[in-house]
Amino acid sequence: MRTPEVRTRFLDYFAERGHTVVPSAPLPTPDPTLLFVNAGMVPFKPYLTGTAEPPWPRATSVQKCIRTLDIEEVGKTTRHGSFFQMNGNFSFGDYFKEEAIAHAWELSTKSIADGGYGLDPDRIWVTVHHSDGDARGLWRRIAGLPDERIVARGDEDNFWSMGVPGPCGPCSELYYDRGPALGREGGPEVDEDRYMEFWNLVFMQYERGEGPGKSGYPILGELPRRNIDTGMGLERMATLLQGVDNLYEIDETRPILDRAAELAGVRYGADHQADVRLRVVADHVRTALMLLTDGTAPGNEGRGYVLRRILRRAVRSMRQLGYEGLALPELLPVARDCMASSYPEVAEAYVRSAERADAEEDAFRSTLRQGTTVLDTAVATVKGEGGRSLPGAQAFLLHDTYGFPIDLTLEMAAEQGIEVDREGFTALMTAQRERARADARARKGAAPLDTAALRAVLDEHGPTDWRAWETLTTDS
Ligand code: ATP
Ligand code: MG
Ligand code: MG
Ligand code: MG
Repeated sequence: MRTPEVRTRFLDYFAERGHTVVPSAPLPTPDPTLLFVNAGMVPFKPYLTGTAEPPWPRATSVQKCIRTLDIEEVGKTTRHGSFFQMNGNFSFGDYFKEEAIAHAWELSTKSIADGGYGLDPDRIWVTVHHSDGDARGLWRRIAGLPDERIVARGDEDNFWSMGVPGPCGPCSELYYDRGPALGREGGPEVDEDRYMEFWNLVFMQYERGEGPGKSGYPILGELPRRNIDTGMGLERMATLLQGVDNLYEIDETRPILDRAAELAGVRYGADHQADVRLRVVADHVRTALMLLTDGTAPGNEGRGYVLRRILRRAVRSMRQLGYEGLALPELLPVARDCMASSYPEVAEAYVRSAERADAEEDAFRSTLRQGTTVLDTAVATVKGEGGRSLPGAQAFLLHDTYGFPIDLTLEMAAEQGIEVDREGFTALMTAQRERARADARARKGAAPLDTAALRAVLDEHGPTDWRAWETLTTDS
């Protein structure tokens, strides 16, 4: 089943059951706690927390999502995209656990001829929160699942909350056993690649308040109005229904992967490291296209930096695969052809998207041209002296003179088995900033058109030592 059909089947199923179909929100979100939408519920937060009155009692959507936390996983696991689509059904004080479980089970196992996904019921496993006897009972009764395939888990995996006062509650996840070729037997506790999570049901039934207690917010009691929030990974369901081994081989990314292999002259499946790189390229090119479509431009901070890093990783992976030519003009059109049928905005915005991507690749190529030899020489020197760590001064030089952000230096050094003296680097950055500040103070008021104040701002706030990559909270 093609991915666009997996998508429409979901929306049709829930629309027929009284859910209003709500279009995806754009990826950049006004939510102050996030850079990008990272789950289907994000646009519905005000209705779920009760700060706004929901216009409908039930809704369904296919939401575009970005999870920066998953970027490092891409290509290594079989199931994490940096961009993915989350199909969801939502109840705002309307139906609760029983109906949510019944819907998820029915749609997953109903035959393809009857509008379902036709999964084999004997291969589905579920998890429940250990305190949630209701959910366990419902899975037994509605799905006839034996106890061995209803796995109890604790707060870490199966209790949802926002980390602030407000609604919270247990969740229940559905997993599919993809068979012994993909990993070890024993259920999701043993192997989450073989037993792939494809749907998560959140039962918002309690309320947390202010005050002492676990994570600072004790559970006050039952919510007056209980909600359902579910998320089914569109690409994961497509992976199951297309019979491919991983997310990057489905119809919405495989053509990008194939074109990348063709350009690089490598055969997918022949070498593990090359395969990972091809999957990174396929994932990242599509992610970049979706970000560009929604108006993000490459830059040095925030959203723009996430996009810049994704584009640069795609370009660099192609070079590591042995392709020296311009990559994005070859790959971006393939991604467009994969996505335009579900997202007309992809084609509408394409000219601007391609211009921005191509300009970024040009700039990155000249950065690499200038800095790579410097880095390689420095690494060779360190190795020649039997050292294991690149001096902070070298990382600083690469940053200051050659425009290498520290994470690029870290990444490229790591590829050659070398660490970087980050402390030394940070100390030099701080010293530079202080010098600039002192300089600005000394010159203050010296000339009628003194730009020192502006310069001080620039020196204080840039070049940015961007940490969000490590610290962003993006899991829902
Ligand atoms: P996992 O444990 O596999 O990382 P998760 O528990 O973090 O997944 P949820 O937050 O429960 O994922 O999101 C709901 C659904 O969205 C998941 O059941 C899965 O189908 C899908 N999903 C989550 N993260 C990704 C991703 N990075 N790429 C593709 N699909 C994803
Ligand atoms: Mg999970
Ligand atoms: Mg989950
Ligand atoms: Mg996850």
